[in-house]
Amino acid sequence: MRKQPIKLHQMQVLRRRFELSENEEKEFENLQAGFLGELSFDKLLDAHLSGLNVYHVKDYRFKVDGSEVQIDNLLISGDQAYTFEVKNYNFDLVYCNKAWHFVNGEEFKDLSMQVNRQRLLLQQLLKKGSFYSASNNVMSHLVFVNPKQTIYNMPNLENLIVPSNVDKRLSKICKSNYYDQSALYKFLESQRLVKSIYNIPVDIKFETLRPGTYCYQCNSTSTLDKIHRNLYKCKNCKIDYNILQILQNLQTEITALNDSWKITPAILFKLSGGMVSRAVINKYIREGKIKL
Ligand SMILES: [Zn+2]
Repeated sequence: MRKQPIKLHQMQVLRRRFELSENEEKEFENLQAGFLGELSFDKLLDAHLSGLNVYHVKDYRFKVDGSEVQIDNLLISGDQAYTFEVKNYNFDLVYCNKAWHFVNGEEFKDLSMQVNRQRLLLQQLLKKGSFYSASNNVMSHLVFVNPKQTIYNMPNLENLIVPSNVDKRLSKICKSNYYDQSALYKFLESQRLVKSIYNIPVDIKFETLRPGTYCYQCNSTSTLDKIHRNLYKCKNCKIDYNILQILQNLQTEITALNDSWKITPAILFKLSGGMVSRAVINKYIREGKIKL
């Protein structure tokens, strides 16, 4: 399972419990689209990796020479390291003069620089662990996953994956490792950053959050409807929540916003808007179903 980025989780909470400016709402939509794109690429990759002896490392973060790097997908397949930078863009792009442009001609971000940076810094990390050899180069890919996106003047680059060539490219890449790569995998995991410098607590006081219970299976910003004592329902997607799930959601919301906030029964009671009684919270704590 791939975890959603903390920044996305924070914005999901704040659009219900605080407010987002128009720009932040746009950022939220971009982050959400990015995450959905990663999930859809995971599915494709998983289908190609099924039954193979490979290592697929997701959301890999490491630091080398003072720079923090994040790689959506790192694959050790066929005794070779690959990275995949996934982009779920809902707008068209034109490739021209070795650069990406919007349809109106304006130049877009330098995506190849981003992909190259990942490749170079990962190579540096492999060198550090003595896992690098010139013949074992890192291959970095840029992946456009949105089937609705049109790429005009598409270049025939070896490291570009689009919906029309994804199956062909992945079948070439996905092969069992011939040699034992467990030492490399262990080294990579030992270098994984648990906390990113980009994960910062929100600059908001707990008291200013809007109390209530919300659905996180859809984008509805309405509070859940109470069906009976232990059952709540989302007005929009009709998903059911029991009290324990609601308490667990409240807990993850608080931790996502600011992991230094101390979670107590009183805090949970307050954030639920009084929906969950303190007696019930204490009961779940006693039963070990909730750990504070
Ligand atoms: Zn819902």
